[in-house]
Amino acid sequence: MAEYDYDLFVIGGGSGGVRAARVAAGDAGAKVALAEEDRYGGTCVIRGCVPKKLMVFASEFADTAAVSAAYGWDIKKGDFSWPTLRGNIENELDRLEGIYRRLLKNSGVESFDARARLKDAHTVELSTGETKTAKTILVATGGRPTRPDIENAELGIVSDDIFHLDALPKSILVIGGGYIACEFACILHGLGVKVTQYYRGDQILRGFDDEARGLVADQMRERGIDLQINTNIASMNGTKVGKPVNVTDTHGKDHVFDMVFFATGRAPNSNDLGLEEAGVVLGRGGKVEVDATSKTAVDSVYAIGDVTDRVNLTPVAIREGMAFVQTVFHDNPTEVDHDLIPSAIFTQPEMGTVGLSEEDARAQEPIEVYATDFKPMRTSFAGQPDRVLMKLVVSKATRKVLGCHIVAPNAGEMIQLAGIAVKMGATKEDFDRTVAVHPTMSEEIVTMKTPVRTA
Ligand code: NDP
Repeated sequence: MAEYDYDLFVIGGGSGGVRAARVAAGDAGAKVALAEEDRYGGTCVIRGCVPKKLMVFASEFADTAAVSAAYGWDIKKGDFSWPTLRGNIENELDRLEGIYRRLLKNSGVESFDARARLKDAHTVELSTGETKTAKTILVATGGRPTRPDIENAELGIVSDDIFHLDALPKSILVIGGGYIACEFACILHGLGVKVTQYYRGDQILRGFDDEARGLVADQMRERGIDLQINTNIASMNGTKVGKPVNVTDTHGKDHVFDMVFFATGRAPNSNDLGLEEAGVVLGRGGKVEVDATSKTAVDSVYAIGDVTDRVNLTPVAIREGMAFVQTVFHDNPTEVDHDLIPSAIFTQPEMGTVGLSEEDARAQEPIEVYATDFKPMRTSFAGQPDRVLMKLVVSKATRKVLGCHIVAPNAGEMIQLAGIAVKMGATKEDFDRTVAVHPTMSEEIVTMKTPVRTA
């Protein structure tokens, strides 16, 4: 008789957990079970990247209508139906969840629609009352949005709620200046909501390249978002979500909004999982502490994805899951490379970024900065004030491109490809040797001849 019920028990059916489970079962032939208390697909598929991106697409149609007249089209901006979009998104998520379930089943993974928590280093207890043992346990429980610690904060919504609203508000106050705040400020503005955004610091998108985030902020304001920096919510009062909220800001001014949306960060889902009782060490904010192979303080317990609060992005969780399978089931200890990860912020315009910001690079070594900021052809032809930015931060000593920052429509698509070059260690001269694709916005990335600054 086997010592354990399973070779692997995965807690959490999001991107990282599902990938690890099905690769361990499929490629490595392990006996695997997975427990998910909510919907399969996790944050990315059910309440994050996927529905968000569909909402981004939806929000861009108003601009298309505005630009079309210059091109000879008579496209009138009609009414937007939130119930139609919401219903279509729900159908799409049902389809994707079905795929996730089938992927697990077809790989031979046994799924439990239940909450699981550790009983000890090799045992999980399920909310169904069952107890299962496994040689290895993988915690892939992700994260959740948090609200600030102010009175009546429950009168505000968080990103999980946005996809389920009965109706879009006429006005909304978005709190925060990170990915989620800026993306939803742009999405909701595009869908016709009057958006006010408060950010407590000097500039949104802290940590990203100053010039790039400055242009995103300018463009958000240009499009009509009331973005207020060095401002936060001081207090809020109201009756229930969906009814007007009275807000006092940190300058003492009073306002009324139909809705308040907190995009003030996320926390690891490590509560009440029996982790610390089993010997797993939790760090700041409740993140599960792991080594470079994603092993926790307990030899039989690993953790991947947002619950470890390393780089909280879906493709990173998937990589961590794949590396975990190599380490544990192929006897090939594999560390995930967290360096030079490209990412995109789906604002309007988008921002794509890989590598060091000008500020971080300058602190590290002497650099040259190549940057160009211009009006893109498509919207400039229609008299729109849009601007885009292409920027390379280059090491003076090695000539390597240390950072690439793009603010432009579809910058997410562009940075994926530029990311390959930067990851390969391309030099500025390698970019220069590449012939431009004309006429495109991205050709500017290979035609910048003289540095705008050296430092
Ligand atoms: P972030 O941590 O990126 O941003 C949180 C924002 O809220 C910051 O601007 C922060 O300010 C502010 N904030 C925090 N606490 C308070 C408070 N008490 N009052 C007012 N403001 C506050 O979190 P997000 O929720 O935006 O995103 C979480 C993670 O999800 C991201 O880091 C990213 O990894 C991932 N993500 C990625 C996306 C993508 O790839 N496109 C899209 C969405 C999410 P301050 O800067 O001063 O700390």
